Amino acid sequence: MRYEDIRKQVIDGCFDMQKKNLIRGTSGNISIRCDENLFAISPSSIPYEKLTTNMIPLVDMEGNVVESSARPSSELPMHLTILRARPDVNCIVHTHSKFSTILSILKMELPICTIPLLFYAPNPAPIVPFELPGSEELGQAVVKGLGKDGQAVIMEQHGLLAVGESLEKAMTCCEYIEEGAEIAYYCRLAADEVRAIPNDKVEKMMEILSTGRAL
Ligand SMILES: [Zn+2]
Repeated sequence: MRYEDIRKQVIDGCFDMQKKNLIRGTSGNISIRCDENLFAISPSSIPYEKLTTNMIPLVDMEGNVVESSARPSSELPMHLTILRARPDVNCIVHTHSKFSTILSILKMELPICTIPLLFYAPNPAPIVPFELPGSEELGQAVVKGLGKDGQAVIMEQHGLLAVGESLEKAMTCCEYIEEGAEIAYYCRLAADEVRAIPNDKVEKMMEILSTGRAL
């Protein structure tokens, strides 16, 4: 079987989304690039505990399933559009995380209000306009929201999406954005205000991070 290790990573990533409380049921999807013309993507509507590596579709950059015993995620057009637009991206994680979704329904942009969000400055996860799930238009909206080096977006009335050079980086990004969204939501509830870290401090810390120093 081709790319068994990467297909196994897709399955592990699905369980990880559940464990980290980023999704419910089989919602959410993951893709990982295998080479310049192939990527693995989570399949559609199969309970994660039933997944085996041969069920993880391998798809080419024209969108053809080249190997699999199961159908690819209905969000295949979105993954394809992002992977085509961002050659630097090796992995995409899409979740239906609760607090990120709430912010998008409130049309409330996530400010840099916590330290982990600094890693994704200057705009950690802009809200992108609603498009139908499974549509190429949704992929185009996400690509526009990510820009050339963005790592995450919040999809209006839908959920969260993060990209990265590895599964670990994209998953960690989802966790931190969701944590920031939860904190921002409770601040809004408690005081109707979410104070951002001052801009000059954000810039200073971005400088520090660019030198490779940890915070
Ligand atoms: Zn979705």
